[in-house]
Amino acid sequence: MAQAHGHGGVQFQNWARTYGCCPELFFQPTSAEEIREILELARQRNKKVKVVGGGHSPSDIACTDGFMIQMGKMNRVLKVDKEKRQVTVEAGILLSDLNTELDKHGLALSNLGAVSEVAAAGVIGTGTHNTGIQHGILATQVVSLTLLTATGETLECSESSHAELFQAVRVHLGCLGVVLTLTLQCVLTFHLREISFPSTLQDVLDNLESHLQQSEYFRFLWFPHSENVSVIYQDRTDRPASSSSSWFWDYGVGYYLLECLLWFSTFLPFLVPWINRFFFRLLFAHRAEHTDLSHRVFNYECRFKQHVQDWAIPIGKTKEALLELKAALERDPKVVAHYPVEVRFARGDPILLSPCFQRDSCYMNIIMYRPYGKDVPRLHYWLAYERIMKKVGGRPHWAKAHTCTRADFEIMYPAFRQFCSIREKLDPTGMFLNSYLEKVFH
Ligand SMILES: Cc1cc2nc3c(=O)[nH]c(=O)nc-3n(C[C@H](O)[C@H](O)[C@H](O)COP(=O)(O)OP(=O)(O)OC[C@H]3O[C@@H](n4cnc5c(N)ncnc54)[C@H](O)[C@@H]3O)c2cc1C
Repeated sequence: MAQAHGHGGVQFQNWARTYGCCPELFFQPTSAEEIREILELARQRNKKVKVVGGGHSPSDIACTDGFMIQMGKMNRVLKVDKEKRQVTVEAGILLSDLNTELDKHGLALSNLGAVSEVAAAGVIGTGTHNTGIQHGILATQVVSLTLLTATGETLECSESSHAELFQAVRVHLGCLGVVLTLTLQCVLTFHLREISFPSTLQDVLDNLESHLQQSEYFRFLWFPHSENVSVIYQDRTDRPASSSSSWFWDYGVGYYLLECLLWFSTFLPFLVPWINRFFFRLLFAHRAEHTDLSHRVFNYECRFKQHVQDWAIPIGKTKEALLELKAALERDPKVVAHYPVEVRFARGDPILLSPCFQRDSCYMNIIMYRPYGKDVPRLHYWLAYERIMKKVGGRPHWAKAHTCTRADFEIMYPAFRQFCSIREKLDPTGMFLNSYLEKVFH
């Protein structure tokens, strides 16, 4: 008989150190049986439960003052099916470990976000995405998963088993139960060649269609307060790995300089447009290229703690939204915006709470760094951005900042009520809710 051992006094903080909590009891189970016992204890004591993966969500979606279940010890690869190119894993496995394991089998995930120190169930749960208009968000790679519900029942979900639940649970927000295992569709291992080159905002927006066709994983970075853009193409290649190492970043000089300048600019905000232009000229004004295994190209180093918003808008609204954001910044010179605004694309899907539900989308990620942990005023930038995103029919990333509540989501998501009734059936007492989720569902 397994035993659920929880302890108090644990402080949880998300990666960006923007949110934290002190759960009453913190558990690191090693088996489904232990999790079932924790849920039983929570039921008896009428406690809330939050499951946490890599703790990378920039919002408070993973926080609780009730029971916290950290899935780090449920991180095994359970099965590799080379014929079907599928892998079955425990939900707490970090994608970085999964990537290494898949390398050994000649397999890879077809798309990944910017970092891999995130857990398989955590990544899908918030609708993590990358770019590539032929590619869906990462949750579309899930072939099946097992869910342990609030009542202790284990459900197998796939296209053919609990099909309606399957379309809900792939972007689950952590509110439907505990994801125990997932089977992911992989592809044969591949190299990616990344080419980046400078352009202008107007030019990229005028030629969006051609860029989308030109490169499988096309994205671009816009440097606010300027016309500057860095276009990034990533495409499959047979070429061997070749790095484009830069002493400026490799020895940390670039990070040090950027963080110092950003910190100074908290006293002299008018420096921000200059910093954006300076770094563009220094690092992004020339063509650069490198090739490596896919996951080493998809992932990049995110050194700075930051605040972020990242909404998905209908792809046809990309130009309008970006030009409006540019105009809003020009209208009010007191509003400053750190670089970059990262623009990515994803294919529509049938997942009920996917920001790409039933439509091809453009994601527009805005950022404000926290140099040396210092918060930089961002309210006006945040509000201007949100106003534009709402106007063009956007839906916010579930893991990142937004001010939306149930009333907004009911308008944004045609299947919102369907998801709510699935949630209410699976978790009638709201065991898996926390304050973030209360705002979403109440
Ligand atoms: C540096 C950095 C880079 C990022 N890059 C990207 C990017 O490129 N694209 C993008 O879209 N996002 C990106 N994100 C956001 C990130 O992908 C999401 O926040 C993702 O959810 C993090 O995974 P996690 O394992 O840390 O999840 P957590 O933050 O630990 O949890 C997220 C949610 O999943 C739930 N959960 C976790 N495990 C389980 C489980 N087993 N069962 C039930 N519920 C569970 C939690 O309760 C919570 O609701 C980035 C974040 C950071 C900090």
